Amino acid sequence: VSKKKRLKILYVSSEVYPFAKSGGLADVGHGLPRAMAKKTDVSVILPLYAQVERERFGIEALGSPFKIEMGVQQYEVQLHACKMGKITYVFVESEPLSRREYLYGPPEMGYEDNALRFGLFCRAVLIWMKKSKEPFDILHLNDWQTALCALLVREDAGCDVKTVFTIHNLAYQGVFEKEALRQLGLSEAYFTMDALEYYGRINLLKAGIAFADAVTTVSRIYAEEILTPEFGFGLEGFLCAHRHKLSGILNGIDTDHFSPESDNVLWENYDENELAKKAENKKAYLKQVGLKGKKKPLFIFIGRLTAQKGVDILIEALDAAAELDWNIALLGEGEGLYHRKLETLASRHENIHLFFGYDEALSHRMYAAADFLLMPSHFEPCGLNQMIAMRYGAVPIVHSVGGLKESVQDIGDFNKKSAHGYGIRFDAPDTAALRAAFDDAVGLYADKKKFKKIIRHNMACDFSWKQSAASYLALYKRVMEH
Ligand code: ADP
Repeated sequence: VSKKKRLKILYVSSEVYPFAKSGGLADVGHGLPRAMAKKTDVSVILPLYAQVERERFGIEALGSPFKIEMGVQQYEVQLHACKMGKITYVFVESEPLSRREYLYGPPEMGYEDNALRFGLFCRAVLIWMKKSKEPFDILHLNDWQTALCALLVREDAGCDVKTVFTIHNLAYQGVFEKEALRQLGLSEAYFTMDALEYYGRINLLKAGIAFADAVTTVSRIYAEEILTPEFGFGLEGFLCAHRHKLSGILNGIDTDHFSPESDNVLWENYDENELAKKAENKKAYLKQVGLKGKKKPLFIFIGRLTAQKGVDILIEALDAAAELDWNIALLGEGEGLYHRKLETLASRHENIHLFFGYDEALSHRMYAAADFLLMPSHFEPCGLNQMIAMRYGAVPIVHSVGGLKESVQDIGDFNKKSAHGYGIRFDAPDTAALRAAFDDAVGLYADKKKFKKIIRHNMACDFSWKQSAASYLALYKRVMEH
Protein backbone atom coordinates (compact mmCIF):
# COMPACT_ATOMS: atom_id res chain seq x y z
CA VAL A 1 0.00 0.00 0.00
CA SER A 2 1.31 3.41 -0.83
CA LYS A 3 1.33 5.72 2.21
CA LYS A 4 -0.61 8.42 0.36
CA LYS A 5 -3.60 6.27 -0.57
CA ARG A 6 -6.81 7.05 1.29
CA LEU A 7 -7.98 3.90 3.01
CA LYS A 8 -11.45 2.62 2.23
CA ILE A 9 -13.30 1.53 5.33
CA LEU A 10 -16.54 -0.38 5.75
CA TYR A 11 -17.86 0.13 9.27
CA VAL A 12 -20.34 -2.54 10.41
CA SER A 13 -22.60 -2.03 13.41
CA SER A 14 -25.94 -3.45 14.57
CA GLU A 15 -27.01 0.05 15.65
CA VAL A 16 -26.15 3.56 14.49
CA TYR A 17 -27.64 6.84 15.72
CA PRO A 18 -29.90 8.46 14.42
CA PHE A 19 -31.29 5.42 12.58
CA ALA A 20 -31.47 2.85 15.39
CA LYS A 21 -30.27 3.11 18.99
CA SER A 22 -30.44 0.97 22.10
CA GLY A 23 -27.31 2.26 23.88
CA GLY A 24 -23.84 3.75 23.68
CA LEU A 25 -22.90 1.52 20.68
CA ALA A 26 -25.19 3.62 18.45
CA ASP A 27 -23.41 6.81 19.55
CA VAL A 28 -20.06 5.29 18.58
CA GLY A 29 -21.47 4.13 15.22
CA HIS A 30 -22.52 7.72 14.63
CA GLY A 31 -19.51 9.65 15.88
CA LEU A 32 -16.50 7.55 14.90
CA PRO A 33 -17.25 7.08 11.16
CA ARG A 34 -18.05 10.79 10.86
CA ALA A 35 -14.75 11.75 12.48
CA MET A 36 -12.80 9.29 10.30
CA ALA A 37 -14.54 10.51 7.13
CA LYS A 38 -12.60 13.77 7.47
CA LYS A 39 -9.43 11.83 6.62
CA THR A 40 -10.50 8.79 4.67
CA ASP A 41 -13.40 7.08 2.81
CA VAL A 42 -15.95 5.47 5.10
CA SER A 43 -19.20 3.62 4.43
CA VAL A 44 -21.43 2.28 7.19
CA ILE A 45 -23.68 -0.80 7.01
CA LEU A 46 -26.43 -1.74 9.49
CA PRO A 47 -29.71 -3.68 9.59
CA LEU A 48 -32.90 -2.02 8.37
CA TYR A 49 -35.06 -2.52 11.45
CA ALA A 50 -38.80 -1.79 11.30
CA GLN A 51 -38.28 1.37 13.39
CA VAL A 52 -35.78 3.01 11.01
CA GLU A 53 -37.54 6.07 9.52
CA ARG A 54 -36.95 5.58 5.80
CA GLU A 55 -38.66 8.71 4.54
CA ARG A 56 -37.15 11.03 7.10
CA PHE A 57 -33.63 10.00 6.06
CA GLY A 58 -34.31 9.51 2.34
CA ILE A 59 -33.45 5.80 2.47
CA GLU A 60 -34.02 4.19 -0.93
CA ALA A 61 -33.74 0.69 -2.37
CA LEU A 62 -30.35 -0.20 -3.83
CA GLY A 63 -30.59 -2.66 -6.74
CA SER A 64 -32.97 -5.60 -6.83
CA PRO A 65 -33.71 -8.14 -4.12
CA PHE A 66 -31.51 -11.24 -4.06
CA LYS A 67 -31.40 -14.56 -2.22
CA ILE A 68 -28.98 -15.69 0.46
CA GLU A 69 -28.65 -19.37 1.14
CA MET A 70 -27.75 -20.20 4.71
CA GLY A 71 -28.04 -23.64 6.28
CA VAL A 72 -30.96 -25.37 4.59
CA GLN A 73 -32.95 -22.16 4.04
CA GLN A 74 -33.07 -19.35 1.54
CA TYR A 75 -33.76 -15.78 2.58
CA GLU A 76 -34.71 -12.84 0.42
CA VAL A 77 -32.61 -9.73 1.02
CA GLN A 78 -33.04 -6.16 -0.18
CA LEU A 79 -30.35 -3.53 0.31
CA HIS A 80 -31.13 0.16 0.79
CA ALA A 81 -28.97 3.26 1.08
CA CYS A 82 -28.85 6.93 1.94
CA LYS A 83 -26.14 9.53 2.11
CA MET A 84 -25.52 11.86 5.05
CA GLY A 85 -22.55 14.21 4.88
CA LYS A 86 -19.67 12.33 3.32
CA ILE A 87 -20.89 8.90 4.40
CA THR A 88 -22.98 6.37 2.51
CA TYR A 89 -25.16 4.31 4.87
CA VAL A 90 -26.24 0.92 3.57
CA PHE A 91 -29.12 -0.98 5.18
CA VAL A 92 -29.83 -4.70 5.06
CA GLU A 93 -33.48 -5.70 4.93
CA SER A 94 -34.61 -9.29 5.31
CA GLU A 95 -37.72 -10.55 7.00
CA PRO A 96 -36.28 -12.24 10.11
CA LEU A 97 -33.88 -9.35 10.73
CA SER A 98 -36.19 -6.47 9.94
CA ARG A 99 -39.80 -7.26 10.82
CA ARG A 100 -39.48 -7.10 14.59
CA GLU A 101 -40.65 -4.76 17.30
CA TYR A 102 -37.25 -4.51 19.01
CA LEU A 103 -33.65 -4.50 17.77
CA TYR A 104 -32.57 -7.56 19.76
CA GLY A 105 -35.64 -8.57 21.75
CA PRO A 106 -37.98 -7.36 24.51
CA PRO A 107 -36.35 -5.89 27.69
CA GLU A 108 -34.10 -8.39 29.51
CA MET A 109 -34.55 -10.96 26.66
CA GLY A 110 -33.10 -11.72 23.25
CA TYR A 111 -35.04 -13.12 20.27
CA GLU A 112 -34.49 -16.88 20.01
CA ASP A 113 -33.35 -16.62 16.40
CA ASN A 114 -30.82 -13.83 16.93
CA ALA A 115 -27.98 -16.05 15.66
CA LEU A 116 -29.83 -16.52 12.40
CA ARG A 117 -30.86 -12.84 12.18
CA PHE A 118 -27.35 -11.50 12.57
CA GLY A 119 -25.76 -14.36 10.64
CA LEU A 120 -27.89 -13.27 7.72
CA PHE A 121 -26.80 -9.68 8.27
CA CYS A 122 -23.11 -10.73 8.20
CA ARG A 123 -23.55 -12.70 4.97
CA ALA A 124 -25.28 -9.71 3.35
CA VAL A 125 -22.41 -7.44 4.46
CA LEU A 126 -19.90 -9.63 2.62
CA ILE A 127 -22.01 -9.78 -0.52
CA TRP A 128 -22.35 -6.01 -0.69
CA MET A 129 -18.69 -5.43 0.16
CA LYS A 130 -17.53 -7.71 -2.65
CA LYS A 131 -19.79 -6.00 -5.17
CA SER A 132 -18.17 -2.62 -4.53
CA LYS A 133 -16.29 -1.35 -7.61
CA GLU A 134 -13.33 -0.11 -5.61
CA PRO A 135 -12.36 -2.75 -3.03
CA PHE A 136 -12.50 -1.96 0.68
CA ASP A 137 -9.24 -2.09 2.63
CA ILE A 138 -10.69 -2.51 6.12
CA LEU A 139 -13.84 -4.13 7.45
CA HIS A 140 -14.43 -2.70 10.94
CA LEU A 141 -16.75 -4.97 12.98
CA ASN A 142 -18.46 -4.20 16.29
CA ASP A 143 -19.68 -6.66 18.94
CA TRP A 144 -21.01 -10.20 18.54
CA GLN A 145 -23.75 -9.27 16.04
CA THR A 146 -21.09 -8.58 13.39
CA ALA A 147 -18.34 -10.96 14.54
CA LEU A 148 -19.18 -13.71 12.06
CA CYS A 149 -17.95 -11.46 9.22
CA ALA A 150 -14.37 -12.08 10.42
CA LEU A 151 -14.83 -15.84 10.00
CA LEU A 152 -16.58 -15.48 6.63
CA VAL A 153 -13.73 -13.32 5.30
CA ARG A 154 -11.22 -16.03 6.29
CA GLU A 155 -13.29 -18.66 4.49
CA ASP A 156 -13.58 -16.64 1.31
CA ALA A 157 -10.51 -16.92 -0.88
CA GLY A 158 -11.73 -14.04 -3.07
CA CYS A 159 -11.80 -11.62 -0.16
CA ASP A 160 -8.56 -9.97 0.90
CA VAL A 161 -9.99 -7.23 3.13
CA LYS A 162 -8.41 -6.85 6.60
CA THR A 163 -10.71 -7.08 9.61
CA VAL A 164 -10.74 -5.09 12.85
CA PHE A 165 -13.11 -6.24 15.60
CA THR A 166 -14.14 -3.94 18.46
CA ILE A 167 -15.59 -5.27 21.71
CA HIS A 168 -17.80 -2.65 23.37
CA ASN A 169 -18.89 -4.75 26.33
CA LEU A 170 -17.68 -8.26 27.07
CA ALA A 171 -20.84 -8.97 29.07
CA TYR A 172 -22.68 -9.53 25.76
CA GLN A 173 -21.22 -12.45 23.80
CA GLY A 174 -23.94 -13.90 21.56
CA VAL A 175 -24.10 -17.43 23.02
CA PHE A 176 -26.46 -19.90 21.28
CA GLU A 177 -27.22 -23.61 21.22
CA LYS A 178 -25.00 -25.78 19.05
CA GLU A 179 -27.82 -26.20 16.47
CA ALA A 180 -27.22 -22.58 15.43
CA LEU A 181 -24.07 -23.76 13.61
CA ARG A 182 -26.21 -25.60 11.08
CA GLN A 183 -28.67 -22.70 10.73
CA LEU A 184 -25.74 -20.40 10.05
CA GLY A 185 -24.46 -22.79 7.40
CA LEU A 186 -21.16 -23.27 9.22
CA SER A 187 -19.04 -26.39 9.27
CA GLU A 188 -18.88 -28.61 12.39
CA ALA A 189 -15.16 -28.01 12.24
CA TYR A 190 -15.76 -24.67 14.00
CA PHE A 191 -17.11 -26.50 17.07
CA THR A 192 -13.75 -26.46 18.83
CA MET A 193 -12.37 -24.52 21.77
CA ASP A 194 -10.07 -22.44 19.59
CA ALA A 195 -13.00 -21.41 17.37
CA LEU A 196 -16.69 -21.04 18.35
CA GLU A 197 -17.32 -23.75 20.97
CA TYR A 198 -18.15 -22.42 24.44
CA TYR A 199 -19.15 -24.89 27.16
CA GLY A 200 -21.11 -27.06 24.73
CA ARG A 201 -22.71 -24.11 22.94
CA ILE A 202 -21.45 -21.60 20.39
CA ASN A 203 -20.19 -18.10 21.14
CA LEU A 204 -20.24 -15.62 18.27
CA LEU A 205 -17.98 -13.08 20.00
CA LYS A 206 -15.25 -15.74 19.81
CA ALA A 207 -15.46 -15.61 16.00
CA GLY A 208 -14.37 -11.98 16.08
CA ILE A 209 -11.58 -12.58 18.59
CA ALA A 210 -10.27 -15.68 16.79
CA PHE A 211 -10.47 -14.57 13.16
CA ALA A 212 -10.11 -10.76 13.03
CA ASP A 213 -6.70 -9.32 12.16
CA ALA A 214 -6.91 -6.91 15.11
CA VAL A 215 -9.15 -6.79 18.17
CA THR A 216 -9.83 -3.59 20.09
CA THR A 217 -11.85 -2.54 23.12
CA VAL A 218 -13.04 0.92 24.03
CA SER A 219 -10.35 1.88 26.53
CA ARG A 220 -6.74 0.89 27.14
CA ILE A 221 -7.50 -0.05 30.74
CA TYR A 222 -10.49 -2.26 29.82
CA ALA A 223 -8.23 -4.02 27.28
CA GLU A 224 -6.01 -5.03 30.23
CA GLU A 225 -8.86 -5.80 32.64
CA ILE A 226 -10.57 -8.31 30.32
CA LEU A 227 -7.52 -10.55 30.52
CA THR A 228 -8.42 -11.29 34.17
CA PRO A 229 -11.17 -13.55 35.59
CA GLU A 230 -12.81 -10.57 37.33
CA PHE A 231 -13.64 -8.79 34.06
CA GLY A 232 -13.20 -11.49 31.39
CA PHE A 233 -16.68 -13.06 31.65
CA GLY A 234 -15.22 -16.50 30.98
CA LEU A 235 -13.25 -15.38 27.92
CA GLU A 236 -10.11 -14.19 29.75
CA GLY A 237 -8.13 -17.27 28.72
CA PHE A 238 -9.22 -17.01 25.11
CA LEU A 239 -8.41 -13.30 25.05
CA CYS A 240 -4.99 -13.97 26.59
CA ALA A 241 -4.28 -16.42 23.77
CA HIS A 242 -4.99 -13.59 21.30
CA ARG A 243 -3.52 -10.70 23.31
CA HIS A 244 -0.84 -9.98 20.68
CA LYS A 245 -3.55 -8.43 18.50
CA LEU A 246 -5.55 -6.75 21.30
CA SER A 247 -5.46 -3.01 22.07
CA GLY A 248 -7.68 -0.31 23.58
CA ILE A 249 -8.82 3.01 22.09
CA LEU A 250 -10.97 5.36 24.19
CA ASN A 251 -14.27 6.54 22.69
CA GLY A 252 -15.10 10.19 22.23
CA ILE A 253 -18.42 12.02 22.32
CA ASP A 254 -20.17 14.08 19.65
CA THR A 255 -19.19 17.54 20.88
CA ASP A 256 -21.63 19.28 18.51
CA HIS A 257 -24.54 17.32 19.95
CA PHE A 258 -23.30 17.57 23.54
CA SER A 259 -22.56 21.27 23.65
CA PRO A 260 -23.72 23.53 26.50
CA GLU A 261 -23.03 26.56 24.27
CA SER A 262 -25.58 25.58 21.63
CA ASP A 263 -27.75 22.78 23.05
CA ASN A 264 -31.28 23.98 22.31
CA VAL A 265 -33.02 21.92 25.00
CA LEU A 266 -31.35 23.82 27.86
CA TRP A 267 -32.98 26.70 29.71
CA GLU A 268 -29.80 28.78 29.25
CA ASN A 269 -26.75 28.13 27.09
CA TYR A 270 -23.35 28.70 28.65
CA ASP A 271 -19.62 28.15 28.31
CA GLU A 272 -16.91 27.71 30.93
CA ASN A 273 -16.83 31.46 31.63
CA GLU A 274 -20.57 31.72 32.20
CA LEU A 275 -21.16 29.47 35.18
CA ALA A 276 -23.87 31.81 36.48
CA LYS A 277 -25.92 30.72 33.48
CA LYS A 278 -25.28 27.08 34.34
CA ALA A 279 -26.75 27.91 37.77
CA GLU A 280 -29.93 29.12 36.02
CA ASN A 281 -30.33 25.64 34.55
CA LYS A 282 -30.05 24.17 38.03
CA LYS A 283 -32.65 26.56 39.42
CA ALA A 284 -35.09 25.80 36.61
CA TYR A 285 -34.57 22.04 36.86
CA LEU A 286 -35.06 21.97 40.66
CA LYS A 287 -38.27 23.95 40.24
CA GLN A 288 -39.51 21.61 37.52
CA VAL A 289 -39.03 18.47 39.60
CA GLY A 290 -39.93 19.99 42.96
CA LEU A 291 -36.56 19.71 44.72
CA LYS A 292 -35.73 22.46 47.23
CA GLY A 293 -32.49 24.37 47.89
CA LYS A 294 -30.61 25.84 44.96
CA LYS A 295 -27.57 26.41 47.19
CA LYS A 296 -27.26 22.71 47.94
CA PRO A 297 -25.15 20.52 45.65
CA LEU A 298 -27.15 18.58 43.06
CA PHE A 299 -26.00 15.02 42.33
CA ILE A 300 -27.37 13.10 39.37
CA PHE A 301 -27.30 9.54 38.06
CA ILE A 302 -28.23 8.75 34.44
CA GLY A 303 -28.04 5.28 32.93
CA ARG A 304 -29.31 1.77 32.49
CA LEU A 305 -30.54 0.37 35.80
CA THR A 306 -28.47 -2.82 35.73
CA ALA A 307 -25.96 -4.50 37.99
CA GLN A 308 -23.08 -3.25 35.78
CA LYS A 309 -23.86 0.38 36.62
CA GLY A 310 -23.46 -0.19 40.41
CA VAL A 311 -27.10 0.59 41.15
CA ASP A 312 -26.98 -1.77 44.15
CA ILE A 313 -24.22 0.13 45.98
CA LEU A 314 -25.71 3.45 44.88
CA ILE A 315 -29.05 2.67 46.56
CA GLU A 316 -27.38 1.54 49.79
CA ALA A 317 -25.02 4.49 49.94
CA LEU A 318 -27.75 7.03 49.18
CA ASP A 319 -29.97 5.56 51.85
CA ALA A 320 -27.17 5.78 54.39
CA ALA A 321 -26.19 9.34 53.44
CA ALA A 322 -29.59 10.92 52.82
CA GLU A 323 -29.11 13.25 55.80
CA LEU A 324 -26.42 15.18 53.90
CA ASP A 325 -27.39 18.68 52.79
CA TRP A 326 -27.82 17.83 49.09
CA ASN A 327 -30.29 16.94 46.33
CA ILE A 328 -30.22 13.80 44.22
CA ALA A 329 -31.93 13.15 40.86
CA LEU A 330 -31.91 9.84 39.01
CA LEU A 331 -32.92 9.08 35.41
CA GLY A 332 -32.91 5.57 34.01
CA GLU A 333 -34.70 2.38 33.21
CA GLY A 334 -33.82 -1.25 33.50
CA GLU A 335 -34.33 -4.20 35.79
CA GLY A 336 -37.58 -4.40 37.74
CA LEU A 337 -35.77 -5.18 40.99
CA TYR A 338 -33.91 -1.85 40.87
CA HIS A 339 -37.07 0.05 39.93
CA ARG A 340 -38.76 -1.23 43.08
CA LYS A 341 -35.77 -0.55 45.35
CA LEU A 342 -35.37 2.97 43.99
CA GLU A 343 -39.05 3.73 44.49
CA THR A 344 -38.75 2.72 48.14
CA LEU A 345 -35.64 4.89 48.49
CA ALA A 346 -37.28 7.96 46.91
CA SER A 347 -40.40 7.56 49.02
CA ARG A 348 -38.25 7.69 52.17
CA HIS A 349 -36.27 10.85 51.34
CA GLU A 350 -37.72 14.07 50.01
CA ASN A 351 -34.38 15.23 48.60
CA ILE A 352 -34.31 12.32 46.13
CA HIS A 353 -36.11 12.66 42.78
CA LEU A 354 -36.64 9.72 40.48
CA PHE A 355 -37.62 9.53 36.80
CA PHE A 356 -37.99 6.16 35.06
CA GLY A 357 -37.67 6.13 31.28
CA TYR A 358 -35.34 7.01 28.45
CA ASP A 359 -35.40 10.74 27.75
CA GLU A 360 -32.57 12.30 25.77
CA ALA A 361 -33.67 15.94 26.24
CA LEU A 362 -34.19 15.51 29.97
CA SER A 363 -30.74 13.94 30.28
CA HIS A 364 -29.17 17.05 28.66
CA ARG A 365 -31.02 19.34 31.08
CA MET A 366 -29.85 17.23 34.01
CA TYR A 367 -26.19 17.34 32.92
CA ALA A 368 -26.53 21.14 32.65
CA ALA A 369 -28.21 21.44 36.05
CA ALA A 370 -25.94 19.09 37.99
CA ASP A 371 -22.94 19.78 40.18
CA PHE A 372 -21.90 16.12 40.31
CA LEU A 373 -22.54 12.98 38.25
CA LEU A 374 -22.53 9.60 40.03
CA MET A 375 -21.02 6.66 38.17
CA PRO A 376 -20.28 3.81 40.55
CA SER A 377 -20.14 1.14 37.79
CA HIS A 378 -18.70 -2.25 38.80
CA PHE A 379 -17.08 -2.38 35.36
CA GLU A 380 -17.14 0.16 32.55
CA PRO A 381 -15.56 -0.55 29.14
CA CYS A 382 -15.50 3.16 28.29
CA GLY A 383 -18.57 5.04 29.50
CA LEU A 384 -19.84 8.20 27.85
CA ASN A 385 -21.77 9.84 30.70
CA GLN A 386 -18.65 10.97 32.54
CA MET A 387 -17.39 12.77 29.43
CA ILE A 388 -20.76 14.39 28.76
CA ALA A 389 -20.89 15.47 32.42
CA MET A 390 -17.44 17.09 32.29
CA ARG A 391 -18.41 18.93 29.11
CA TYR A 392 -21.52 20.33 30.85
CA GLY A 393 -19.62 21.25 34.00
CA ALA A 394 -20.79 18.45 36.31
CA VAL A 395 -17.91 16.85 38.23
CA PRO A 396 -17.94 13.05 37.84
CA ILE A 397 -17.71 10.75 40.84
CA VAL A 398 -16.48 7.43 39.47
CA HIS A 399 -15.37 3.96 40.47
CA SER A 400 -11.78 3.81 39.29
CA VAL A 401 -12.23 1.16 36.62
CA GLY A 402 -11.96 0.75 32.82
CA GLY A 403 -12.76 3.81 30.75
CA LEU A 404 -13.72 5.78 33.87
CA LYS A 405 -10.20 5.41 35.23
CA GLU A 406 -8.75 6.39 31.88
CA SER A 407 -10.90 9.45 31.21
CA VAL A 408 -11.25 10.90 34.74
CA GLN A 409 -8.13 11.90 36.70
CA ASP A 410 -8.41 12.26 40.47
CA ILE A 411 -8.84 15.85 41.74
CA GLY A 412 -6.02 15.13 44.17
CA ASP A 413 -3.69 15.34 41.14
CA PHE A 414 -5.34 18.47 39.71
CA ASN A 415 -3.09 20.33 37.31
CA LYS A 416 -4.41 23.23 35.25
CA LYS A 417 -2.12 22.44 32.36
CA SER A 418 -3.25 18.84 31.92
CA ALA A 419 -5.34 17.86 28.91
CA HIS A 420 -7.36 15.46 31.09
CA GLY A 421 -10.62 15.96 32.90
CA TYR A 422 -10.83 15.63 36.68
CA GLY A 423 -13.27 14.12 39.12
CA ILE A 424 -13.56 12.21 42.39
CA ARG A 425 -12.41 8.62 42.06
CA PHE A 426 -12.85 5.75 44.49
CA ASP A 427 -11.10 2.41 44.35
CA ALA A 428 -13.47 -0.20 45.74
CA PRO A 429 -16.95 -0.79 44.31
CA ASP A 430 -18.61 -0.80 47.74
CA THR A 431 -21.00 1.30 49.78
CA ALA A 432 -18.37 2.59 52.21
CA ALA A 433 -16.08 3.87 49.44
CA LEU A 434 -18.96 5.56 47.65
CA ARG A 435 -20.16 7.05 50.94
CA ALA A 436 -16.68 8.52 51.50
CA ALA A 437 -16.72 9.95 47.97
CA PHE A 438 -19.99 11.78 48.78
CA ASP A 439 -18.23 13.50 51.69
CA ASP A 440 -15.32 14.47 49.44
CA ALA A 441 -17.78 15.93 46.95
CA VAL A 442 -19.64 17.94 49.56
CA GLY A 443 -16.25 19.21 50.81
CA LEU A 444 -15.19 20.20 47.30
CA TYR A 445 -18.51 21.96 46.70
CA ALA A 446 -17.90 24.07 49.81
CA ASP A 447 -14.51 25.16 48.42
CA LYS A 448 -16.16 27.31 45.73
CA LYS A 449 -12.92 28.57 44.22
CA LYS A 450 -11.42 25.14 43.65
CA PHE A 451 -14.74 23.68 42.53
CA LYS A 452 -15.14 26.33 39.82
CA LYS A 453 -11.54 25.95 38.70
CA ILE A 454 -12.08 22.24 38.12
CA ILE A 455 -15.37 22.77 36.30
CA ARG A 456 -13.84 25.39 33.99
CA HIS A 457 -10.89 23.14 33.29
CA ASN A 458 -13.11 20.11 32.50
CA MET A 459 -15.41 22.10 30.21
CA ALA A 460 -12.46 23.21 28.11
CA CYS A 461 -11.06 19.67 27.63
CA ASP A 462 -11.30 17.97 24.25
CA PHE A 463 -13.65 14.97 24.45
CA SER A 464 -14.29 14.89 20.70
CA TRP A 465 -13.75 11.89 18.40
CA LYS A 466 -10.68 13.50 16.85
CA GLN A 467 -8.05 11.63 18.85
CA SER A 468 -9.84 8.28 18.72
CA ALA A 469 -10.34 8.58 14.97
CA ALA A 470 -6.60 9.22 14.52
CA SER A 471 -5.81 6.15 16.68
CA TYR A 472 -8.12 3.92 14.62
CA LEU A 473 -6.64 5.18 11.35
CA ALA A 474 -3.14 4.44 12.67
CA LEU A 475 -4.29 0.94 13.66
CA TYR A 476 -5.81 0.32 10.20
CA LYS A 477 -2.49 1.28 8.63
CA ARG A 478 -0.58 -1.11 10.89
CA VAL A 479 -3.03 -3.90 10.05
CA MET A 480 -2.62 -3.20 6.31
CA GLU A 481 1.12 -3.62 6.58
CA HIS A 482 0.85 -7.21 7.82
P1 ADP B 1 -24.02 2.04 28.10
O1 ADP B 1 -23.32 0.97 28.88
O2 ADP B 1 -25.47 2.10 28.44
O3 ADP B 1 -23.76 2.01 26.61
P2 ADP B 1 -22.60 4.58 28.10
O4 ADP B 1 -22.15 5.45 29.23
O5 ADP B 1 -21.56 4.10 27.14
O6 ADP B 1 -23.43 3.39 28.71
O7 ADP B 1 -23.68 5.38 27.22
C1 ADP B 1 -24.88 5.76 27.78
C2 ADP B 1 -25.51 6.84 26.92
O8 ADP B 1 -26.93 6.74 27.02
C3 ADP B 1 -25.18 8.24 27.37
O9 ADP B 1 -25.27 9.11 26.26
C4 ADP B 1 -26.30 8.54 28.41
O10 ADP B 1 -26.51 9.91 28.63
C5 ADP B 1 -27.46 7.88 27.71
N1 ADP B 1 -28.52 7.40 28.61
C6 ADP B 1 -28.51 6.28 29.37
N2 ADP B 1 -29.68 6.11 30.01
C7 ADP B 1 -30.47 7.15 29.65
C8 ADP B 1 -31.82 7.55 29.96
N3 ADP B 1 -32.58 6.84 30.79
N4 ADP B 1 -32.30 8.66 29.36
C9 ADP B 1 -31.54 9.38 28.53
N5 ADP B 1 -30.26 9.07 28.19
C10 ADP B 1 -29.73 7.98 28.75
